[in-house]
Amino acid sequence: MKKRICILYTGGTIGMVPTDRGYAPKPGALAQYLKAIPDLASPEAPAWELVEMEPLLDSSNITVREWRAIGQAIFDHYDRFDGFVVLHGTDTMAYTASALSFMLEDLQKPVIFTGSQIPLCRMRSDGRDNLITSLLIAAQGRAAEVCLYFGGKLLRGNRATKRSADGLRAFSSPNYPPLAMAGVEIRYDQAALARPAQKGPLALAPFEAAPIGVLKVFPGIQFGLFEPILTEALRGIVLETFGAGNIPDGGGALLPLIQKAGKNGTVLVVCSQCGEGSVHLGAYATSAPLKASGAVSGRDMTTEAAVAKLYYLFSKGHSAAEVKRLMEQDLRGELTGE
Ligand code: ASP
Repeated sequence: MKKRICILYTGGTIGMVPTDRGYAPKPGALAQYLKAIPDLASPEAPAWELVEMEPLLDSSNITVREWRAIGQAIFDHYDRFDGFVVLHGTDTMAYTASALSFMLEDLQKPVIFTGSQIPLCRMRSDGRDNLITSLLIAAQGRAAEVCLYFGGKLLRGNRATKRSADGLRAFSSPNYPPLAMAGVEIRYDQAALARPAQKGPLALAPFEAAPIGVLKVFPGIQFGLFEPILTEALRGIVLETFGAGNIPDGGGALLPLIQKAGKNGTVLVVCSQCGEGSVHLGAYATSAPLKASGAVSGRDMTTEAAVAKLYYLFSKGHSAAEVKRLMEQDLRGELTGE
């Protein structure tokens, strides 16, 4: 029996058409492009069905509401299909893949995000291989988790990050090995695929746009300028720090801010501006104030995963103390434990 795969089109370059304002998605266009790809009708291809989301978006416009809609579509179609290929714009694909990895609890089928840098309507589109290989990976069923396939590599979705605005190998996963490499054959890394066992039927976790922020530190940062955003309304903040979690002390200006965040109950998550490696709070004196204030180490999580995880945990109704505890725990393979 042929495997059945659902292709969910959310928008993004792969199905876009040229307009006088630049590339934009257009309802129905992708279906026409797919008809022109002979491989999709090959006897070797799995059976597939296209589901088009509404509205189709450039992924820069995707919000938590669309994440929920994608999750709901997968949930609604889950029993009818063996796997899912989600076609998505590359700009925020790593955020959406991270969000879905948390939202889809007890997922036991492949959900493969992909897209392209060149639309299918153009020569040299990378969309053809990205789509066809993603379909095969979804049909093979070995990566039963949320993944991102792009430019020959299958990555864990919540480990991926967009690293190139115009290269065809646009994504990397600097802190986790690829789950598979697609050369002449698709070769899986069995050890990388291993994850905590899934238990129950698929469940869709609630996902709300909790009031959170991301702040990247830089030399000369004037911390006082950011004080107005540190209100009680801010429930979490991801600090993108230098190296292993270090921050300039701003001549003492930072400490009151961190203390204020602590008093307000804002969860402070420390990530690194280095794509590769991990945060180690306390390794340097320049991270001591963060450690002392009860900031949470994001370890080797991407900012994308940290943002999605904060939304997820707050949406589940956890207290700030519980969110802090869970941020440092590996829930979906998004971080490396100690
Ligand atoms: N701006 C596009 C998007 O993210 C870029 C792409 O798909 O490659 O929707």
